Amino acid sequence: MIQENIMEIKERIKQAALRSGRLPEDILLLAVTKTIDTDRIQEAVEAGLTSLGENKVQEILDKYETMGENVKWHLIGHLQTNKVKYIIDKVELIHSVESLKLAEEIEKRAAAKNIIMPILVEVNIAQEDSKFGLHPSEVETFIRNISTMQHICVKGLMTVAPYVENPEENRYYFRQLRELLVDINEKKIDNVHMDILSMGMTGDYEVAIEEGATIVRVGTGIFGERFYPEKLNK
Ligand SMILES: *Cc1c(COP(=O)(O)O)cnc(C)c1O
Repeated sequence: MIQENIMEIKERIKQAALRSGRLPEDILLLAVTKTIDTDRIQEAVEAGLTSLGENKVQEILDKYETMGENVKWHLIGHLQTNKVKYIIDKVELIHSVESLKLAEEIEKRAAAKNIIMPILVEVNIAQEDSKFGLHPSEVETFIRNISTMQHICVKGLMTVAPYVENPEENRYYFRQLRELLVDINEKKIDNVHMDILSMGMTGDYEVAIEEGATIVRVGTGIFGERFYPEKLNK
């Protein structure tokens, strides 16, 4: 099942890339493994997906040893400042940086480990009250502020688009995120050249790719519906 799902998603990624004149290999399919046990994650790894996304620090820590050296973890969810220390040397990319306080803590912990931490800035592109992320108008100043931190490298932008039935409704937002990235790159801020756009999930990754996504974060499409403990109790 998992293997077939992945094959189908890869084919759709390829088609969306070709439709928009892009190379399929320029798009990373990040397998979102929240609530998924390591046996099932292993199936995805065997099908070729070695980059895994989690939205909670604790889930990365729980699965880290079992999944071993051959996978790369991405933190995609809200990160509390007091938890940075647990994952700083365990993740490949932090997608969800959206406050100066958090950036300062990442800088401090990365410096202590003598590493440079690649990060994305999370943007609340549709300006929804329920979502994390910076208002689009705040992003440039924020990036200017963190660009001087020596142990952080700003690689791009990330957004969690609105939940919609019709993915076309998010096309405008994906395009806006890409335009924001292009605009900020044109400012030629020292140490900042962004080339990652993390946008698009199960419901809308093809539209996101057409609008320039370089990382799509797909959970349900690979593993099926997630079961949370609350749901099981009902
Ligand atoms: C859960 C999650 C996803 C994946 O969502 P699906 O709709 O299951 O593909 C992507 N990004 C973030 C930040 C998530 O928390």
